[in-house]
Amino acid sequence: MPADTAHTPDREKTEGEQELARLFSLQKQAYLAAPYPTYSERIDRLDLLIRLTETNEDKFIEAISADFGNRSSFETVVAEIVVTVSGAKHARKHLKHWMRPRGVATPVHMLPAKSRIEPQPLGVVGIISPWNYPLQLALAPAAAALAAGNRVLIKPSELTPRLSEVLQQAIASQFDETVCAVVTGGVGTGQAFTETPFDHFLFTGSTAVGARVAQAAAKNLTPVTLELGGKSPAIIDDSADIGDAAKSIAYGKMLNAGQTCVAPDYVLTPHAKLDATVEAIAGAARKLYPAIDTTDDYTSIISDRHFARLKSMIEKVRDQGVKIVEVGSSNALHPQRKLPLTIMIDPPVDSDVMKEEIFGPILPILPADTTDAAVQHVNAGDRPLALYWYGKDDNARDYILQNTVSGGVTVNDALWHVAQENLPFGGVGKSGIGSYHGEAGFTTFSHMKPVFYQSRFANGSIMHPPYTDKTSKILS
Ligand code: NAD
Repeated sequence: MPADTAHTPDREKTEGEQELARLFSLQKQAYLAAPYPTYSERIDRLDLLIRLTETNEDKFIEAISADFGNRSSFETVVAEIVVTVSGAKHARKHLKHWMRPRGVATPVHMLPAKSRIEPQPLGVVGIISPWNYPLQLALAPAAAALAAGNRVLIKPSELTPRLSEVLQQAIASQFDETVCAVVTGGVGTGQAFTETPFDHFLFTGSTAVGARVAQAAAKNLTPVTLELGGKSPAIIDDSADIGDAAKSIAYGKMLNAGQTCVAPDYVLTPHAKLDATVEAIAGAARKLYPAIDTTDDYTSIISDRHFARLKSMIEKVRDQGVKIVEVGSSNALHPQRKLPLTIMIDPPVDSDVMKEEIFGPILPILPADTTDAAVQHVNAGDRPLALYWYGKDDNARDYILQNTVSGGVTVNDALWHVAQENLPFGGVGKSGIGSYHGEAGFTTFSHMKPVFYQSRFANGSIMHPPYTDKTSKILS
């Protein structure tokens, strides 16, 4: 089914909604007919997902690069293909253990009864994915939902239409549509998706749209996992090696041209080390991408609208007299919307660049002389999706860990906690609700059902009426 287009939005939107309703109804009926896929059925489904990801690798690389203007094929392989396949393989390896009923202690006065928590598929799961890692953020949650025994409908972003089409074909080539399918379309289809009575939603995208998704889902009391964004700080402690921190921050910021939900959004560094930090990050960025115009290693900004948004952030701060260091060519007409790393030194806290998630290669660097000043800065804003801390002082590290709340943390590097399948991945507060990856994904997409097995020999009649004289016996 084609994506919504500007030419015939109403007709396309209606078609999208009809297709959504058809697929949802099919999957719901299939779920009701077979609500508990066996271990081996789930393994087969994970294998299909792994196969479609691996066999379509070239098509995915090409489609994503065409959607972006340019996307490094290495970054697509690592951040989309490898991450998806290794997540699905991790689920395959641990699935038997995750599916087991968990016995819990039964109080003495209830013995010889037994108590267990038994994971159960939720039913039909809806996944809405964004454009920035359009394959990984559709398939990684799908793998978790399939491992938990669910049926899955995916609604990818309209900003990556080529990838959406290839993904739809790839999934259709491997999966029966009653098990897993893709619905394409624009915001209208997205809205209809969120009004559909799924048994669970996983939404990945912006905080503003996430709130709308949660409101729409609430009408059906559909539970939601919201994987959102925010301003993730990188804190350089006085005890840090600035060169090491700079390499890590430059890489984390410039991967996918800063269009990464867990990219370091801004840097806090001691005042006395501000200049050294700027120089070190600029130097590291030059080494990573010596010529952004000509290299295929550096990813383009996804659309003209996002390019204009980022340019406007830069111009507004420039007009306020803030010092700006542009790393690389200053040619305003970069081919394929390539934007160089643009470092801003201490922009005002009320500037757009400090109020909004940047989601591009702009890096404000601000002074924070003490650990407490860094904590106060972070806590003055919304709870971030990620936090990065660099240094050798364990007390300062622990103070940051205990006094800030973020979705996740990597100490002395950037991004890595997201790649560790044994760690749950998700936000907190405005950066998200719930988590997935590894076993956290399995439990997110399962009903962890408590079951009390009464003993056949139990006599519960002590609790039954008539209650005469029973109150005093129970309380004594
Ligand atoms: P977005 O919120 O604009 O769109 C996300 C998805 O929602 C798209 O598929 C879009 O079509 C759909 N959508 C838009 N409006 C909708 C509506 N009213 N109802 C239902 N669906 C609707 O986000 P984006 O621009 O695609 O992605 C960037 C944002 O996503 C950033 O904020 C980034 O931090 C965040 N993000 C978070 C994670 C994470 O794992 N936490 C990962 C990647 C991106």
